[in-house]
Amino acid sequence: MKYGTKLLHTGHEVDRATGAACIPIYQVSMFDQPGLDEPGVFDYARSGNPTRKALEGVLAELEGAAGAFAFSSGMAALSVVLMLLSAGDHVIATDDCYGGTYRVLTRVFRRFNIEATFVDTGDPAAVAAALRPNTRMLLVETVSNPFLRQTDVKAMSAIAREHRLLLAVDNTFLSPYLYQPMQDGADIVIHSATKYLGGHSDIIAGTVAAREADLAKEIYFLQNAVGAVLGPQDCFLLMRGIKTLKVRMDRQVETAKLLAGWLVGRPEVREVFYPGTGAMLSFRLVDASLTAPFVERLQLPLLGVSLGAVETLVAVPSRHSHASVPAPERVRRGITDDLIRLSVGLEEPADLIDDLAQALAHAGGEAAAVEAD
Ligand code: PLP
Repeated sequence: MKYGTKLLHTGHEVDRATGAACIPIYQVSMFDQPGLDEPGVFDYARSGNPTRKALEGVLAELEGAAGAFAFSSGMAALSVVLMLLSAGDHVIATDDCYGGTYRVLTRVFRRFNIEATFVDTGDPAAVAAALRPNTRMLLVETVSNPFLRQTDVKAMSAIAREHRLLLAVDNTFLSPYLYQPMQDGADIVIHSATKYLGGHSDIIAGTVAAREADLAKEIYFLQNAVGAVLGPQDCFLLMRGIKTLKVRMDRQVETAKLLAGWLVGRPEVREVFYPGTGAMLSFRLVDASLTAPFVERLQLPLLGVSLGAVETLVAVPSRHSHASVPAPERVRRGITDDLIRLSVGLEEPADLIDDLAQALAHAGGEAAAVEAD
């Protein structure tokens, strides 16, 4: 079955109790037991809820996983994955990872004596050089943020197998439609489902999928123990978003390719970062003084954090996704105020180009006027 069909027909799409064409929102916290010694399928909704179970079934199908789990945010999902570790363990993580990932590793898990080293995971030799006797996990982003560098999951998997490490892959930027990391050996796949999976800027959610049943069991234990579960209404919205993932991504990727090519030719743009896949692109303006006039002049994109929505979103990573990274570290990584990130949405490409053109021309004109003063 092709992936676009699978997004709609996973075996979890019809409510078997009623025949309803969508799994209903089971807005409930507890379930009546048939008898004292007869527990039902569900007992308490932190441990399991029918709407969440349906979503988790869909997610497992889409990743080719033994099990999948829905959390109240991408950070909750990622934190539960890190809770597979114990004090004294070491993680190797992608160096230009999401700012929240950097923050939780350096300011939360560090306090529990779990250490992280940040390296360019696009370079397997750098990863091998960072290995320590207590390294237990590789935590990589398939496409990093904000420079959209790609990590070769197969190469990471070879290192993980050789050194008996868990390979956890944050695939938020690509979505399972464009790439399924388990096919290349990932043990765990994480998504901020707030982004492409949800797709409509209306929920905060996270997912974790595990390739092997034993690992799925451990993650289920942590999900229930820690309790950062996704509520039933958000599970419903996420299932609804997933149904259109293919058509959204196909169109958004096509427009992103077009815009990346167009931006290369603009005099106000110094450098464009686009990995050739996905609907995210970043670019550096010729000067940081153009940033505010440019982003504030744009009419169509929404300005702020997040990505993966039906609307085009514009962000300045130094002020948004990476604001929590200390300034010297940000500068070391090249995340300066001249860097703009675009999450390409579903608007007509010609309208986006018109809007970008007028905002760039405006910003360029402002900068020239200041210079002339
Ligand atoms: N991972 C990546 C790559 C992200 O971009 C984000 C959020 O932007 C997260 C994880 C965290 O997800 P959430 O905001 O849903 O907690």
